[in-house]
Amino acid sequence: MKAILLPGPGMPFTYETVPDPAPGPGEAVARVLACGSGLTIHHARAGRLKLNHYPRIIGHEIAAEIVAVGAGVKNVKAGDGVTAYFYFTCGHCHWCRINRETLCENFGGYVGRESDGGYAEYIKLPARSFMKFPDGIDWRQNPAEAGVICDALATPVKVIRRARITPHDTVAVFGAGGGLGIHMLMVARWARAKKIIAVDTAASKFEAAVKCGADITIDASAGNVAEQLREATGGKGIDVAIDFVSNASTLEPALAALGRGGRLVTLGGSGKAFNADPAKLLREEIEIVGSRYATRQEVMDTLELVARGEFKALVTDKAPLAEAEALHQRLDKELIIGRAALVMG
Ligand SMILES: [Zn+2]
Repeated sequence: MKAILLPGPGMPFTYETVPDPAPGPGEAVARVLACGSGLTIHHARAGRLKLNHYPRIIGHEIAAEIVAVGAGVKNVKAGDGVTAYFYFTCGHCHWCRINRETLCENFGGYVGRESDGGYAEYIKLPARSFMKFPDGIDWRQNPAEAGVICDALATPVKVIRRARITPHDTVAVFGAGGGLGIHMLMVARWARAKKIIAVDTAASKFEAAVKCGADITIDASAGNVAEQLREATGGKGIDVAIDFVSNASTLEPALAALGRGGRLVTLGGSGKAFNADPAKLLREEIEIVGSRYATRQEVMDTLELVARGEFKALVTDKAPLAEAEALHQRLDKELIIGRAALVMG
């Protein structure tokens, strides 16, 4: 099969012919129709994230069709339209049993990092990593839009729950112009948040942000963000800050902009420490919440919501498999609004 290989950290992709995968017991192989190209996987291409094995086929936001299953596989069969659950989880620890498997005690890594992923004509995974599309998802006609649901939309759906966003809440999204940010705006609009504020340093992405649900945009490169957010809320402060950038330069203003009872949700980021004033946390009952990907149930719920037409993914850049490197060059320059995806021929 044709595949895109990442030869090493920070190295350009190569487009090669590799052996077709064959399913062992408990595994399944699917023909990939499309695979999303988000920043999460670009970190691997750019070398910011080291993988345990090279060369590696990256990518996890797939729309695919099962073509072969190994012995003992019951949950999928040839012809099924599937996406993938990004995490390898054990399915039997405490956290898996209570539907919080992003906290799995036996976490086994990620599709497209610890295993080969979707940047290829075929993908082999443990059968339980595949999740069937419900009726109403047109995965054959629009595989790119279907493929990215499992992360680009499921992650924001989880944030709505983690931050308990209601129609009474003013919500600010930091990094609103990125692939997850744009979908977060969309899902916050769907959740009927009172006011949605897009914060980004790339003003060129504000038009799309407004189209996807932002009421107000704030250019973080032009002045004090916390002050601008306070101004936008008549001095009261925002109810929820969702930070997809999550370094000190975004987390600190996000926290400062929160009003009473405010919630700060952090996703990803640099891993570096930031300052929080415990007096403010106490006085205003502020919550700082981490949110990591989505549970299987949240992925299924998100697929159902898309199937019902509640919202849909925004894929603005599509390229054939052979052009993965050029697509990632555009990702690297932050030229992409919404999600990018590879669409196989
Ligand atoms: Zn587990």
